[in-house]
Amino acid sequence: MAMTSVVIIGSGFTGFECARRLGRLSRRKSASDVRVTIISPTDYMLYTPLLPDVAGGVVDARFVAIPLAGTLKGVRAIRARVDTVDLTGRTLSFTDVERRSHTMDWDRLVLTPGSVTRLFDVPGLATYARGLKSTAEALYLRDHVLEQFELASIDDHEERAEARRTIVVVGASYSGTELVAQLRALADAAAKQLGFDAAQVKFLLLDLAEQVMPEVGKRLGDSAMRVLRKHGIDVRLGTTLSQVHADHVVLSDGSRVNTHTVAWVTGVTAAPLIAKLGLPTEHGRLKVGADLQVPGQPDVFAAGDAAAVPDLTQPGKITPPTAQHATRQGKVLARNVAASLGYAKKKDYRHRNMGMVVDLGPRYAVANPLGVHLSGYPAKFVTRAYHLYAIPRVVNRWAVSLAYLTDAIFPRSVISFGLPSQSQAEFSASEGIPLPRAE
Ligand SMILES: Cc1cc2nc3c(=O)[nH]c(=O)nc-3n(C[C@H](O)[C@H](O)[C@H](O)COP(=O)(O)OP(=O)(O)OC[C@H]3O[C@@H](n4cnc5c(N)ncnc54)[C@H](O)[C@@H]3O)c2cc1C
Repeated sequence: MAMTSVVIIGSGFTGFECARRLGRLSRRKSASDVRVTIISPTDYMLYTPLLPDVAGGVVDARFVAIPLAGTLKGVRAIRARVDTVDLTGRTLSFTDVERRSHTMDWDRLVLTPGSVTRLFDVPGLATYARGLKSTAEALYLRDHVLEQFELASIDDHEERAEARRTIVVVGASYSGTELVAQLRALADAAAKQLGFDAAQVKFLLLDLAEQVMPEVGKRLGDSAMRVLRKHGIDVRLGTTLSQVHADHVVLSDGSRVNTHTVAWVTGVTAAPLIAKLGLPTEHGRLKVGADLQVPGQPDVFAAGDAAAVPDLTQPGKITPPTAQHATRQGKVLARNVAASLGYAKKKDYRHRNMGMVVDLGPRYAVANPLGVHLSGYPAKFVTRAYHLYAIPRVVNRWAVSLAYLTDAIFPRSVISFGLPSQSQAEFSASEGIPLPRAE
């Protein structure tokens, strides 16, 4: 029997959801000629909204990783990074974890490689700063922060000890704000357990914008700002970095801050694979129609952070890069790929934003579900309940809820395994961003 090969690139929110549904289709007797393959550098789908909790030591990294094995029934998962796509010859090439190259044919191609941290031309940024898009980066930040506290306690050079206890987070959108709040809670736990004054740990949150978290609106942004200030976080708006060094940064206002820890969480840009395709893009994201098909390429589909999906609820705009859209686009992708094979009826993607939930550490959160503004305990409840509902696997939900319960009852564990290494957490190694080596 001639097989029809459907290849999905990337196992994030979009690719995972699409693969899960196409896997169901391929298990049907009537569609047994459909072979679904997913290619991704990780053998799991990463639930990124809880990465700040991983960095803050509340949740274990394995709890936010949904294994492809066992969850994607009827789908062949290949652990590799796709390097090139031949749109005319309908082949692609990929490199496995031992750096061996392979090629594969496809009849339908689904491009869901997501996004990577957006880097700017700031000297020293790629060498000394770390992002928050992968498990390696989240674990590195947690371990590194604790390691610096431990080193500060035996450092007899006062200025250097102070630098070790200073943490700079750049980017005050929801992920940067959640990160700084979780690292503050980790620092407070470490201070208690390692025996130093928590006030010695200084946090700087920088952003060029005029308010924190513009995504949630002014009212909730102001609530978040009050929470951050209450926790002693020095928020500097209209400010970013102009240089990053191993032991200090220079801010855009010319001032110098001594620090050994810089987290760069300023936003994302489409995965590097998109630029290699030679297809039209919008703001770096691959142009697609509302049916998630690439114009002029009837067998190629794309969605999620990597694609510029028209927002039919706001004509003229494209959907923002959020998990909320990515998951729902994954479902429509599966349906439209199935439709192209004659197994379903095609539909356009349409979804109205349902609001955001933002966790600000112990006892605090802000949320605007369906436009209702919440803060404090009600927001905390909604935030945690939402994540437990949205994590796409029962075992992971169970583990995360136990982690939340443990954190509510017991002090946070102050442990630094020192894994992964500094170089494994670099943007190039952890996110696959090609970087010029010399800096
Ligand atoms: C810290 C953080 C917190 C967030 N919090 C929220 C939140 O609270 N709410 C919300 O709605 N959104 C949130 N987001 C945004 C959300 O994570 C993204 O919008 C979502 O992950 C996009 O899904 P995706 O499938 O398009 O891409 P991704 O989830 O990024 O997945 C892309 C996949 O493609 C793989 N890939 C990349 N290149 C290749 C290649 N060449 N070959 C093969 N595979 C490749 C990647 O390894 C990955 O598996 C957050 C993001 C971050 C980083």
